[in-house]
Amino acid sequence: MAAEPNCVFCKIVAGEIPSATVLRTEACQAFLDIGPLSEGHLLVIPVKHYTRMEDMPPEELAQLSRELPGLGRALVEVTGAAGYNLLQNNGSAAGQEVTHVHFHLIPRSTGDGLGYRWRPQAYPEGRADQILARYRDVLAG
Ligand code: 5GP
Ligand code: ZN
Repeated sequence: MAAEPNCVFCKIVAGEIPSATVLRTEACQAFLDIGPLSEGHLLVIPVKHYTRMEDMPPEELAQLSRELPGLGRALVEVTGAAGYNLLQNNGSAAGQEVTHVHFHLIPRSTGDGLGYRWRPQAYPEGRADQILARYRDVLAG
């Protein structure tokens, strides 16, 4: 997958714009988010340009994912955060602004005021079974 000329993260990978990089491997790069939700907020990206998570070859996603436990441990040690969120937005409806796959690692502390409005709903009678059947069909190919 070639670099996208107008992609800010491809430019970071190429070193054309600076980044506070904490880790670089053959498959991925991790750096400080320029607009952190909390101190130490990291972004982890594949070095190749993919727009959405499902566009990535599973092996490349696995190579990136291999770095996540170590990055999570480092985040806790560096920031002293009590916890962190791993967040990955796909599509503008989901809040994706930069169209190059990225994983947020966001340090959290109790009462920090960050986070989603988490409003669980209930399925109407029979609806979960319909959706389950659709998933099984689609995943069975
Ligand atoms: P999204 O909303 O697409 O999930 O998140 C994009 C993230 O990229 C934002 O948190 C934003 O602060 C970060 N970002 C955008 N441009 C740059 C940049 O040039 N450098 C860095 N380090 N982060 C960026
Ligand atoms: Zn890109």
